[in-house]
Amino acid sequence: MHEIIKLNMLINGREVDSPHQLEVRDPGKLTDVVGTVAMGSASNVHDAVCAAHAAFQSWRLMPVHERVQSLMAGAAAMEEVSTQLATTLVREQGMLLRETQRDVNNGIKSLREMGSIAEDFLQAEQFEDEDSLVRVEKAPRGVIAAIVPWNAPMGLTMGKVGPALAAGNTLVVKPSAFAPLAVSQALKLLAGFFPPGTINVVHGDADVGSALTHHPLVRQISFTGGTKTGKAVMAAAAESIKNINLELGGNDPAIILDDADPALVVPELIKGIFPRSGQVCYAVKRVYVPARIMPSFFDALCAAVDQYQVGHGLNPLSTFAPMNNHKQYDYVLGLIAQCRQAGAIVRELGSRLEPDNWNNGLYVQPTVIKDVAPTAELVVAEQFGPAIPLVAYDTEEQALQMANDTEYGLASSIWTSDPNRGLALSSRLEAGVTFVNSHARTPLGERHMPFGGAKQSGIGRVRTPIGLAEYVEYHAISLNKKNCQPQT
Ligand code: NAD
Repeated sequence: MHEIIKLNMLINGREVDSPHQLEVRDPGKLTDVVGTVAMGSASNVHDAVCAAHAAFQSWRLMPVHERVQSLMAGAAAMEEVSTQLATTLVREQGMLLRETQRDVNNGIKSLREMGSIAEDFLQAEQFEDEDSLVRVEKAPRGVIAAIVPWNAPMGLTMGKVGPALAAGNTLVVKPSAFAPLAVSQALKLLAGFFPPGTINVVHGDADVGSALTHHPLVRQISFTGGTKTGKAVMAAAAESIKNINLELGGNDPAIILDDADPALVVPELIKGIFPRSGQVCYAVKRVYVPARIMPSFFDALCAAVDQYQVGHGLNPLSTFAPMNNHKQYDYVLGLIAQCRQAGAIVRELGSRLEPDNWNNGLYVQPTVIKDVAPTAELVVAEQFGPAIPLVAYDTEEQALQMANDTEYGLASSIWTSDPNRGLALSSRLEAGVTFVNSHARTPLGERHMPFGGAKQSGIGRVRTPIGLAEYVEYHAISLNKKNCQPQT
C-alpha cells in the first residue's frame, strides 16, 4: 500500500492549502488514488506573483555565482531523491519507470547545464573609446510564469526553472493538473535553496493558467503545451506586451528514403515513435514510406512493435505504458476507429501483461496503420498517442511536400544510407529540429542542439546558451565621458 500524497501550494516560502482539492489517480490503475493537491484560485495567483515580484528586487542583485551555487545545490538535492520522484511520477502520470527516471534526470541535467553556462553567458559586453563607454548588460526580466504539461513534466519544468533563476528572474510555476505531484515536490525541495518568493507553485487548471498569463506583473510567460492553448497564452501576453516562449505541439514526419535498409531503420525508428506511448511532443507522428517497399516495411515494423509488453509503469516486465488521461485515450481510440472505418489496414500489436487490470487503466496497444489517406485526421493532426500511420509516396519531392504540408514544425527525421543525401534533404524540412537516421538526440546533440519549433510549433528555443538568452533583457548603457570628472 502506498501512502496518499497530500500537497499544498507554495507562496512566498509558505505552504498554502485550499478548500478545493484535486484527486490524482494512477492512469495504470484507476482505482488507486495517488495523491491530492490544493488547487489555486486567481487570488492565490495574485499572491504568488506579488511574492515573486518582491523577491525579484533582491534576487536580481545577487551575484551570478551565488545564484548558480543555489541552483547546483538544488540539483544535488533533487538527485538524492530522484528515485522517489520518478516512482511518484509513474503513479500519477503513467509512464514506465525508466522513462520517468529519464525525465527526472533530464530535469537535473537542465539545472546543471544552465548553472554551468550562466556565469560566462551573463557577462556584460563592454566597448570604449575616448569619448564614451558602452555596456550591453544581460538583465533579468522579472516574474516569469512557467506553465507546463504532463507528458515530461520534470524535464520541461526544470528546463524553465534553470535559465529563469540563473538569469536573475523569479518564478511562479503552474504544474499540469494531470501530473502535479512529483513536480510540486521537486519545486518545494528546490525552493529551500532560494530566498522565499523566488520559486512559487500554484496548482490548477486553465483558470489558474489564464490568471497567470493575464497578470500585469508577469513579465514573461514560458509555456509548454498544445498549440491551441499556446494561442490563448499569446493573446493574453499581448495585453501587457509580455515576452513569451512557446513550446507547442508537433506532427513530426519521418521520411524513409528508398536507399534505407529497413533492418537498420526499424529498431531505431520505433525508439522515435513509441517512447512514453507516443506522448512525446517530438515523437514521430507519421511515416512516409516509398510505395515500392511499403509491404515489406510494414511487415518489418509490425514485427518489431509486436514485441512490446503493455503494462503498468512500475511492472519491471512492462515495455509499454498506459496513456495519461481520458481525453487523450478517447481521442486516440477515435482516430484508430476512423482509420478502420475508412478501410485502412490497422494492426493492434504487443501483448497485454496484466489482462485483469487492462480495463482499470488507460491502456492502448501500440498500433500501426497503413493504406491511410494523407488527409486522414491521424495523419494531419497531432495524435499524441500510440497509433502510427504509414503513408506511401512515389517521389522524394512528393514526400517532402507532404512532410511540410502542415502548420506544425517541431521535429522531423530522414532515414537513408547516404549521409549527404540525408543532410541535403534535412535543410528543406520546415522544422526546429531534424535528425538523420534517428529520431532522438545523440550525446553531442544534447549539448549543442537548441530545441524548439518552427511555424505553429512554437516561438523560442530551450537548452544551450540560445535557450538561456530567452530569459534576459538586453540593457544597453552608454556613458558620455566628456562631462565626467577625471577619475583618480
Ligand atoms: P495543454 O495545452 O492542454 O496544457 C498545458 C498547460 O497549460 C497545462 O498546465 C494547462 O493546465 C495549462 N492551460 C490550459 N489552458 C490554459 C490557458 N487558457 N491559459 C494558460 N494555461 C492554460 O497541453 P497538455 O495536454 O498538457 O500537453 C500536451 C501538448 O503539449 C501536446 O500538444 C504536446 O505536443 C505539447 N508539448 C510540447 C512540447 C515542446 O517542447 N514543444 C513539449 C511537451 C509537450
